[in-house]
Amino acid sequence: MAPDVPLAIVGGGPVGLVCALFASEAGLDPVVIEPRTAPIDKACGEGLMPGAWRLVRELGLEPAGADLRGVVYVQGDARAEHRFRRATGRGVARVELHAAVAARVAERGIQVIPGRVDAVERHDDHVTLSGPGLDPLTAGHVIGADGLHSRVRELVGLGARGQQASARRFGLRRHYTLAPWTDNIEVRWTPNAEFYVTPLGPELIGVALLGRRGTDFATVLADEPELAALLRADAAGDSPAQVGGVRGAGPLLQRTTARTAGRVLLVGDASGYVDALTGEGLRLGFAQAKAAIAAIVAGDVRRYEREWLSITRDFRALTSALVLAARSPLRRAIVPAAVRLPGVYGGIVERLAR
Ligand SMILES: Cc1cc2nc3c(=O)[nH]c(=O)nc-3n(C[C@H](O)[C@H](O)[C@H](O)COP(=O)(O)OP(=O)(O)OC[C@H]3O[C@@H](n4cnc5c(N)ncnc54)[C@H](O)[C@@H]3O)c2cc1C
Repeated sequence: MAPDVPLAIVGGGPVGLVCALFASEAGLDPVVIEPRTAPIDKACGEGLMPGAWRLVRELGLEPAGADLRGVVYVQGDARAEHRFRRATGRGVARVELHAAVAARVAERGIQVIPGRVDAVERHDDHVTLSGPGLDPLTAGHVIGADGLHSRVRELVGLGARGQQASARRFGLRRHYTLAPWTDNIEVRWTPNAEFYVTPLGPELIGVALLGRRGTDFATVLADEPELAALLRADAAGDSPAQVGGVRGAGPLLQRTTARTAGRVLLVGDASGYVDALTGEGLRLGFAQAKAAIAAIVAGDVRRYEREWLSITRDFRALTSALVLAARSPLRRAIVPAAVRLPGVYGGIVERLAR
């Protein structure tokens, strides 16, 4: 049978929408299914590494933000700084990024169908999607870009067991209307959690916090008086510069057994995620989106599986190792080691910058 559409992308977060743009450029005429209205906010460190920023610009997009010139690790008086050698990244508030990509999707005439996918039926020559309030839709291929808690991943049986509950990590994010004091992504290592500070504009800073379940922003900020002072926070962690509420996400570690099941492919966080500590989610998601579309166009979906492994190899190895060290007694040695071994630290940051 001829499907209703050649390609349906489930999830209109940044990766799903960028995927739709690549698909449209490749002549695939995609639709996107997304329950929420643009622009969509989400807990995120909001740092586009140089590779992600290059890709966003290749799509002709220039969302407002602040240039990012490096990554600095801070722990007490110890500071390890590495400036990107070749290109800058960009701090972009999540809604700015989403609004820019969504506007381009609309300009290209790509249909975004409001709805939540809750059933996936796989057939030899098509896939049928349906859900509450969503008329059944048949597609030649389906890309699941529905985030950390992907329903598509679950429905096609590609999810793998995660991690012990005690080891699970979560993320929170707050915004402050303050002039950035740095043009780096600043990672502040407290005894039990990490602050991830990103300049987002001339008067806007994003502060993400990564840690175990129940990690409390105010309590961790009290461990980091220098940051609390920069954010003008009082003893309760409240600051007159704070805007909007606290957003949360997690658990961050999501494993997959494979990224393709017949005509269904997974991209972005839906395809598996390790942790936000290295700030690579968007870079990887955009690269996966490009590779998934190329594989569909080539009529060789299995090729995507190989490319996914290659795109995520360093992320899986480096980020897993760093998170493991961060949860062990070695934690206190991470920043001093980065200070003592600038070549190694710089080499790692340059890999993240690709
Ligand atoms: C605290 C924190 C800090 C981070 N910092 C950074 C950083 O600095 N740099 C970076 O690059 N990355 C960072 N990340 C990772 C980054 O946020 C993610 O990798 C990125 O958001 C993934 O985008 P996505 O489009 O795959 O998923 P999402 O942004 O989660 O989008 C998924 C979309 O799917 C939709 N959806 C869900 N279920 C369904 C369904 N059943 N049917 C239809 N639609 C559905 C949702 O509504 C949503 O819009 C961070 C993450 C966290 C939690």
